[in-house]
Amino acid sequence: MNDVIIAGGGPTGMMLAAELRLHGLHVLVLEKEAEPPALVRALGLHARSIEVLDQRGLLDRFLAHGQQHPVVGFFAAIKKPWPDHLRTAHSYVLGIPQTTTDRLLAERAAELGAEIRRGCELVGLSQDHDGVTAELADGRRLRSRYLVGCDGGRSTVRKLLGVGFPGEPSRVDTLLGEMEVAVPPETVATVVAEVRKTQLRFGVGPIGDGVYRVVVPAEGVADDRSVPPTLEEVEQQLREWAGTDFGVHSPRWLSRFGDATRLAERYRVGRVLLAGDAAHIHPPMGGQGLNLGIQDAFNLGWKLAAEIAGWAPDGLLDSYHTERHPVAADVLDNTRAQMELLSPEPGPRSLRRLMSELMDFEDVHRHLIEKITATGIRYDFGDGHDLLGRRMPDLGLERGRLYELTRGGRGLLLDRTGRLSVEGWADRIDHVVDGGMDLEVPAALLRPDGHVAWVGEDQHDLLSRLPSWFGRPRGSDRTPACTSELISSTSLPDAEIRARGPFG
Ligand SMILES: Cc1cc2nc3c(=O)[nH]c(=O)nc-3n(C[C@H](O)[C@H](O)[C@H](O)COP(=O)(O)OP(=O)(O)OC[C@H]3O[C@@H](n4cnc5c(N)ncnc54)[C@H](O)[C@@H]3O)c2cc1C
Repeated sequence: MNDVIIAGGGPTGMMLAAELRLHGLHVLVLEKEAEPPALVRALGLHARSIEVLDQRGLLDRFLAHGQQHPVVGFFAAIKKPWPDHLRTAHSYVLGIPQTTTDRLLAERAAELGAEIRRGCELVGLSQDHDGVTAELADGRRLRSRYLVGCDGGRSTVRKLLGVGFPGEPSRVDTLLGEMEVAVPPETVATVVAEVRKTQLRFGVGPIGDGVYRVVVPAEGVADDRSVPPTLEEVEQQLREWAGTDFGVHSPRWLSRFGDATRLAERYRVGRVLLAGDAAHIHPPMGGQGLNLGIQDAFNLGWKLAAEIAGWAPDGLLDSYHTERHPVAADVLDNTRAQMELLSPEPGPRSLRRLMSELMDFEDVHRHLIEKITATGIRYDFGDGHDLLGRRMPDLGLERGRLYELTRGGRGLLLDRTGRLSVEGWADRIDHVVDGGMDLEVPAALLRPDGHVAWVGEDQHDLLSRLPSWFGRPRGSDRTPACTSELISSTSLPDAEIRARGPFG
């Protein structure tokens, strides 16, 4: 019996596999394709995903393969400089092709011990009280305690569950591909600038080695979008919109995408869950889909691990839907709005001018960028301090920084007072006492995904909140003592910290 089968080895599935492996679960990823695709969809990662990578110690390997770009034009391609006062250490877009992101996440999952089987397509599933049976295309059956469908927008898992996927079908298709051109770069740039004055779904841009990424509106909407366009179709549409096909030739790959916008009605049915594109699809405006999937996985991983380990409080696993469904609904809405603002029609163009004026107000622009970068997300944990429900940005500690302490995917009590204790939960929560840390409150309890579950300074108040996120204290039913021995992260000699781990 596997603990978790993940159907789909895209970025969401691999991120989830890695998160589950941090907690020692036996994870099997089933990926239907024998080889990773050549097709490059996403081109970048936004601030919150970059933070997530940093929280798990992955950022250096991503930075080594990407380029840091200023965040300009990420809302409906309306160009404004990055707003001030965004609370993140990563005020940039990390330009990195999805093929590289997918590879790095797959390598990470494998390094941590996830079993990855390529060329394995899930075609059926059933569930009972003990687990889930997955049926593969070759007729084999596999068992697991839980199964997560990370199998993309056409998700087989979602369809087998019968989960509704309401929304709007595609109204427009766009052709996409990488190919060479037969004209000088200056000619391409001049023509593209002219076309983009009225058609923002058009682009021909160099990506290195003489290869260009071509994006051009298609004629009509395809019956089957999985069938790639021909080069002739791309040439025809280039001539239609630009008056020239730039002599395109030698395509590396060709593809098409639509603007269908849909959201799964439920993210969980019993022991089966949905994440990433399997749960939500929308146009690629603002570059949010892959980021959303990585962050779904980050939210779900520790909750599913807690459920399987047996310490999850009631409702913890269902909070995955409660928290992430509204986030996706908001992304769908902002992409719908962006699609309207890209239209060449006179009405939307007036709206676009008005929107551009409004974005000169710092607060408006910041609000939109916080949506696109997912740094503005606040889960509903009830009334309380403004930090409650938000992700904690990276903080300076007396020695090191916060995100260096979150690599293991455990809860974390940040404590400036030295008077608090998480005794009883020490197997799930680390405790850092640091009087000099750059924290605006006396103490904060972080979930394994870095969202703030509690702020305050009172031990009894803390004890009343701990069980709702971290379950019952270990060992007995007693209420844990308030006077456990404290470990100061700043007073231990280095050798001792290494021996104990950063949390003692
Ligand atoms: C043109 C374009 C540009 C984009 N640009 C951006 C961007 O800049 N930024 C951004 O964040 N997002 C972007 N996106 C969106 C992004 O590509 C997706 O949101 C992302 O790939 C979703 O990841 P996923 O793992 O959920 O699904 P997928 O990447 O679709 O992976 C699903 C995997 O499941 C496998 N699978 C399917 N069915 C089965 C089955 N039955 N059994 C086993 N395996 C199965 C598939 O082979 C695939 O490997 C863009 C999308 C497009 C089309």
